[in-house]
Amino acid sequence: MDHFHFSNGELHVEDVPVSRIAAEVGTPVYIYSASTFRRHAQVFREGLSALPRVHLAYAIKANPNIAVLRVLADEGYGADVVSVGEMRRALAAGMKPEDIVFSGVGKTRAELVAALEAGIGQFNLELEEEGAVLAELAHERGLVAPATLRVNPDVDAGTHAKISTGRKENKFGVPIDQALGMFDRLAGLPGIDLKGVACHIGSQLGDLAPLEAAYKRVGELVAELRGAGHRITRVDLGGGLGVPYKPGDVMPAPAAYGEMVARVTKDWDVELMFEPGRVIAGNAGVLATEVVWVKPGVANPYVIVDAAMNDLMRPALYDAHHDFVAVRPTGETMMANIAGPVCETGDTFAMNREIDAVKSGDLAVFRTAGAYGATMASTYNSRPLVPEVMVEGDRFAVVADRIAAETIIAAERVPEWLKK
Ligand SMILES: *Cc1c(COP(=O)(O)O)cnc(C)c1O
Repeated sequence: MDHFHFSNGELHVEDVPVSRIAAEVGTPVYIYSASTFRRHAQVFREGLSALPRVHLAYAIKANPNIAVLRVLADEGYGADVVSVGEMRRALAAGMKPEDIVFSGVGKTRAELVAALEAGIGQFNLELEEEGAVLAELAHERGLVAPATLRVNPDVDAGTHAKISTGRKENKFGVPIDQALGMFDRLAGLPGIDLKGVACHIGSQLGDLAPLEAAYKRVGELVAELRGAGHRITRVDLGGGLGVPYKPGDVMPAPAAYGEMVARVTKDWDVELMFEPGRVIAGNAGVLATEVVWVKPGVANPYVIVDAAMNDLMRPALYDAHHDFVAVRPTGETMMANIAGPVCETGDTFAMNREIDAVKSGDLAVFRTAGAYGATMASTYNSRPLVPEVMVEGDRFAVVADRIAAETIIAAERVPEWLKK
């Protein structure tokens, strides 16, 4: 459920008409519904209510806007971060350091030190050497780093190849069959408190079976580690739940996910960490855009909108589908291709799609753009960086400015020797 709905023939985000935001802020613009974020955060938590000890670490990379983080901090969420920049955001939004998990396959020594000094609650190790280095860095500072070892369970998540992370040929985690040896070598080091294991097999999962298969392997590993004398108190089960992008998409409900987790983990006796991203953010945001031209094409016209692949990269990157909905639909439809102004054929949001009939100057939105949207935006083609707006009830605020090309040009220099 979300808070995007039609009222008086016009699309609203909560109680605010999209056209009002477009008039005040311009387009393209991301618009988030705070109430939808809250609701998704609550539904996910309720789905896990049968589990005894649960920590929720929102995967910031899905949508790192600090206003969004503020809302999720309010809902009791910590954060899963993959860079020191994301850690700074989580702290700036008021999340507690002990509620922050640091994931990522290429954490630098400088990042490990910054996170140690901030006192974050969990480092997810991606290779044995990282654990040894972290232990040393912590020990030198008189600290002990809480950590888990991320294992790669070699499970096919059945999702797009570019967001699949749990196959043995992927760059993530350590091979699950080598985890025991690594645990033996790392757990005794001063400077590290190796609490358990972590796994995350991919994103936009439409089926619980691969998650269940991965978790069962993790459960076997936990038993094996304990058998070898290790004290295991924490398991991080990652994120990955999919969201519906198209009408008719059916995704596992958080309650069904929670029921599966409860069944698989019932004898584990550990704290469970979860890292949901997309399932919280995806359907809490839209990208509003204005139609620039309707250009005749071979089979269908091209609806050229003022949003482009630099604002919403998912269609170009993952062939992703985003519903396109007119802000004031007439009831008529048309067959069209939808594209942005960027000089790349990949800057195409849809081909041969039946959409609300639109003409030059009309407003529309790409739906389900709250996750992996604004966060991936760039200034390619010297387009401004897309702004973000948050709505709650009848209020709205710009929560990220449009960054003009002039500002970006001002950060560039011509070297002395090229100056005339
Ligand atoms: C991206 C990521 C997540 C979140 O994935 P979603 O599919 O958005 O839930 C969680 N954990 C890790 C380690 C990630 O890299």
